[in-house]
Amino acid sequence: MIKIDSDKSKQISNILSVVKLSSLLFSGLIFLEYFLGSDNPILNYSNSAYTLFWILGILILTSIYFIWTFSAVKKFNRYIHLVQTIENFAILLIFFMVILLSGVHKSEFKFLFLFIIITTTIQSGMKQGIFIASISSFLMLTMDLVCSPGTAVNQYFQNDLTMAGVFLLTAWSLGFYVKTANDYIEELKSLVNKDGLTGVYNHRYFHDALREKIKACEKENAPISVVFIDIDYFKHYNDLYGHQKGDEILSTIGSLLKNSVRKNDIVARYGGEEFAIIMPDASEKEAFFLAETIRKKVEETYFEGEEYQPNGRLTVSIGVSVYPDKAKNDIDLIKSADDALYRAKFFNKNRVETYTSILDELKKDIAEEHIDLVTSVKTLISVINAKDKYTYGHVERVVTYCRMLADKLGLSKQDKQTLIYGAYMHDIGKINIAKDVLIKKMPLTQKEWEMLKQHPVNGVDIIKPVDSLNNIIPLILYHHERYDGKGYPDNLRGENIPYLARVLTVVDSFDAMTSNRPYNKRKTYDEAIAELKKCSGTQFDPVIAHKFIEVIKENRNSFDY
Ligand code: GH3
Ligand code: MG
Ligand code: MG
Repeated sequence: MIKIDSDKSKQISNILSVVKLSSLLFSGLIFLEYFLGSDNPILNYSNSAYTLFWILGILILTSIYFIWTFSAVKKFNRYIHLVQTIENFAILLIFFMVILLSGVHKSEFKFLFLFIIITTTIQSGMKQGIFIASISSFLMLTMDLVCSPGTAVNQYFQNDLTMAGVFLLTAWSLGFYVKTANDYIEELKSLVNKDGLTGVYNHRYFHDALREKIKACEKENAPISVVFIDIDYFKHYNDLYGHQKGDEILSTIGSLLKNSVRKNDIVARYGGEEFAIIMPDASEKEAFFLAETIRKKVEETYFEGEEYQPNGRLTVSIGVSVYPDKAKNDIDLIKSADDALYRAKFFNKNRVETYTSILDELKKDIAEEHIDLVTSVKTLISVINAKDKYTYGHVERVVTYCRMLADKLGLSKQDKQTLIYGAYMHDIGKINIAKDVLIKKMPLTQKEWEMLKQHPVNGVDIIKPVDSLNNIIPLILYHHERYDGKGYPDNLRGENIPYLARVLTVVDSFDAMTSNRPYNKRKTYDEAIAELKKCSGTQFDPVIAHKFIEVIKENRNSFDY
């Protein structure tokens, strides 16, 4: 992508530097020749000629040095246009002085102007080229008029008029060629980097640009935010009106996004009906603000047939995350924005969520030497998520439900925290279980079932070394115990099962029922509530199950069901 452009501009800038340097060296030679051994009337070794000698000498040498370093080190990138303008004017001035020294209107070196006209046109385009050509022509013709006035036929002026024409024609025709070549490159770049349907950037460009922008922001110590946008119930819309109508929606939303972002933001189509925005130098707050504006705009825009969508409108859910606060590299940043998006979906869609990590909160309470282990818990959880897409989001949802239930049950602050951490880590023992067992559609064999039943014990082994996590051990170990004593691993019964483990069992099972699993279809919330009631006293602690049903009913509107 960017490579086509950078390769071309690198080659051109190399060629231009060589041309500029050669023309400067050439000017230096003319200047020395005329100064040291000439009978030119203005060079009588008078004071003013000496001054001119030094000024011009120094100018030529500095320009050579400047262009040399500039072409070698690209550290002026940010001020490139200013640097180029200064460079071009300095060279123009040098050529002008060389022409002055070599005979003014009689000079044979007026063609030197052509060098700077050509290099400027290639570098900065037709407009600038014509500008420099006009200045050069003006200087040249003024010299003719000032130095040989009064003659009936000013031969120099007549000749130079033709030369001025050549200058302008060169700038014009070369400028035209450069513009065509640049347009062609733009067209190519757009074919390679843009998404054909929506006109925004494509997936590959997004990844390349994100890496590049992160590097740039890192240098300047600035944050960079990523916003993920997913259309709600889009499958439903496609099923109802067909893919062609769906495509029109994608294209409209693409334009809406392009028109909503700041000048330097990058809008891309990340996947089928998912868009992403890179916001360099934007804090999470600014990104959230933009996301909220987009969400509202989509909600307020009328899309044909949207009244038959499940929520009566066509809406989007949005996730926001920021580097370096919430992520340590580009992959993390994408993942955290995606997690945030997932949470927005979970909370009834048409919503913006920022990324929060319970683990990061947890780190504050963990002794320094165990931080690494806790960080690897996070990695373990992502590995489990990657192995089993059905558990994706499961942990987040269980934590959210546990938060609500803890308040309902009136748990102490300490117990609530333990419950939340336990909820976060309850499945880490699954790391040892093979992917095909986790996602198996058929009933498990006896051996596989034994393996799966090991995950509470394995989980405990993983976190045991961390002293400060010791109080969540019972939650991990006993979250598959049943109230009637038929659970695993220890067949504990009733009140013998630690209280917080009993709480976690209810929540964990409820989420399993309401998620799509390979071996069973997701239950509706009403069906799941009925199941909780049915199993109260056998699988679940009846008091806790009852309280949880209340929580679910009270929060019915804020969940996606
Ligand atoms: P959710 O609210 O959870 O996001 O549900 P959803 O239906 O939007 O999401 P899901 O991921 O289940 O389905 C995405 C759908 O997006 C599937 C497909 O019909 C549609 N889609 C993906 N790419 C395109 C595309 O290029 N054109 C059209 N018309 N539809 C697409
Ligand atoms: Mg999707
Ligand atoms: Mg969707």
